[in-house]
Formats: sequence, structure tokens, C-alpha cells
Amino acid sequence: MSAPLSGTSTPRETGSAWRHLVALVRLRCPRCHRGRLFHGWFAMSDPCPVCGLIFQREEGYFLGAMYVSYLLGGLLLGAGYYLGTSLLPRWHDHLILLGLFVLYLPLTPVLFRYSRAVWIYFDRWVCPGDASAGAFEKVQAGKRDAQARPASPGTSERP
Ligand SMILES: [Zn+2]
Repeated sequence: MSAPLSGTSTPRETGSAWRHLVALVRLRCPRCHRGRLFHGWFAMSDPCPVCGLIFQREEGYFLGAMYVSYLLGGLLLGAGYYLGTSLLPRWHDHLILLGLFVLYLPLTPVLFRYSRAVWIYFDRWVCPGDASAGAFEKVQAGKRDAQARPASPGTSERP
């Protein structure tokens, strides 16, 4: 039996659906609900600065977030188009679409962040433990653990 990855499975993500939803809206870690997922507009805090959960489980992991982004963008633009054509029936469709495009552009960073957050929460809900931990996640956990270990005296500090 292999040793569990530190910081990836214990303690298991717990809490009510409401707590998870609030943490998702606040862009917090799906396990501890305290660590921030992002430390900039686009830069992720990986692993979680509080509990050490590795967010990116494998290379290309956030490809799934693109599907979430597509879905969220479609919902937003579809609702905007419906509202635009309902509230401004005399406007040409192209003008409404241009207005939606202008309004949508500043939301792109927000959509990026929530797409990744929704993807992480969905993935952790579907595959919560180490069973789905790939080689990439194990390497990342090893690097994190090596950085956390204090350097022994007499050894050089070469990377
Ligand atoms: Zn955390």
C-alpha cells in the first residue's frame, strides 16, 4: 500500500453544500474553505496556502475549465441577448450584440476565475481523494514537501 499524498486527501472535503457554494463564490479552497484560489487576477495560489491542497492535479488539468467558461459565457450572453431584445425592441440585433461584446470584455477575468473554480469544485466532488491522483500531482506534492523540509546543516543550498 502506498502512502497517501500529503495535503491531497486528508482531511476529506467536508461540509454542507451551502458551505461549498459560499466558498466557491468567494473563490476559496474546496477543502479548507479558507485558502484563496487566486493571488492575482490570473495567478493561482497552487497549492492552497492554508491546507496545501494541490489544485492542478495533472498537466492540462484546466482544459475542463474551458468547457465551464464556454457554458458560463453562453449563459451570460444568451441572457444578455434576450434582455437586450426584450428591453430594446427597436434596436438592430447587431447593435445589441456589439453592446453585449463591449459589456462582456471586462468580465473576462471574472469568468476565467470562476471557470477554474467551478472546474476544481466539480472535479473534487467527482474524484475527492488520492485515487485519481496522477503522476503530476504526486510530483507536485513531492516538490512541496521538499520545500517544506528544513535544510540539514552542512548541505549546500543548490537547487
Ligand atoms: Zn485549502
